[in-house]
Amino acid sequence: MNYLSFKNGDQIPIIGLGTWKSKPGEVSQAVYWAIQAGYRHIDCAAVYQNETEVGEGIFKAISEGLVTREELFVTSKLWNNSHKKDQVLPALQKSLADLQLDYVDLYLIHWPIALKAEVGFPKSREDFYTYDEVSIGETWKAMQELKEKGLAKHIGVSNFNQNKLNELFEVGGQKPEMNQVEMQPYLPQESLVQFCLEHGILMTAYSPLGSPDSRAEKHANDPKLLVDPVVKEIADKHKVGPGQILIAWSIARDIAVIPKSVHQERIIRNLASANILLDDHDMMELRDIGISHRFIDGSFFTGDNSPYESSDLFD
Ligand code: NDP
Repeated sequence: MNYLSFKNGDQIPIIGLGTWKSKPGEVSQAVYWAIQAGYRHIDCAAVYQNETEVGEGIFKAISEGLVTREELFVTSKLWNNSHKKDQVLPALQKSLADLQLDYVDLYLIHWPIALKAEVGFPKSREDFYTYDEVSIGETWKAMQELKEKGLAKHIGVSNFNQNKLNELFEVGGQKPEMNQVEMQPYLPQESLVQFCLEHGILMTAYSPLGSPDSRAEKHANDPKLLVDPVVKEIADKHKVGPGQILIAWSIARDIAVIPKSVHQERIIRNLASANILLDDHDMMELRDIGISHRFIDGSFFTGDNSPYESSDLFD
């Protein structure tokens, strides 16, 4: 397994298991299969509403001696309705209780968007706080306290663009150690990757396969990454599946990657992508793939009913 290193020498396994949309009835088994197959990194979030079942999978694997807690790297994320300073610690404590853990290895601010406490997903303007009401700096200071308490070994963000990262730098103290964003060959995020590299921020690529199971009907005309001819040609050359090429692409760029699956065969195959060495020609073909597309466009948080704009999320 390849790893990326944090400044203090701690390591994050470069491939992790994604758990968004994994149903409560499936995800314990998926997590167990993943650990059995050799995964040591699990990506979770409170809003996925399945951390209890993820925790059951982890607990079973540890109880059976497949792995120790110390060998695992578990990420969770602070949901948008808990950004006020007094809400941050209780939100993490809830995730820890659900996951049956004493600490997470990484805790991320899920989106730079603040919602009122009772709101899961926003429906009207009243569901939001503005940045004047709850600033990102307020949330980031509270995140730093979680690290000081040892409840999160590392802290970072998700869906933050360069402007938003600069705002966090102004808060002072601990800089974000990770930025988890969508990244796949249709959205290589070259400028953000360079920015994070310059500031010592590691990156994780979410929706590396184009998130085919989150495509609502309105996305029916989206390009299909898993059947892209360039990806397919490279997959045929390496005698592997297209999904594995997409995972290998992130690894070749030193970016952690968290493909989601609830099927044992795919879970195993996705991990084996670490053994695929893409050559310069493969990387060039993927760079020149000719399609630009963001699958997770954040539109549920922007638009007419929201004080936030797409430019608050993406460069
Ligand atoms: P992915 O791009 O990982 O795609 C998952 C889909 O691909 C599922 O339908 C899965 O099906 C299928 N699949 C898995 N492996 C293969 C394969 N080898 N070949 C073909 N199909 C395959 O989508 P996600 O959007 O779930 O992203 C991955 C993870 O990233 C999430 O689960 C979550 O943990 C994280 N994430 C974080 C976000 C954030 O805001 N921070 C936003 C979005 C995602 P099946 O399960 O049936 O095998």
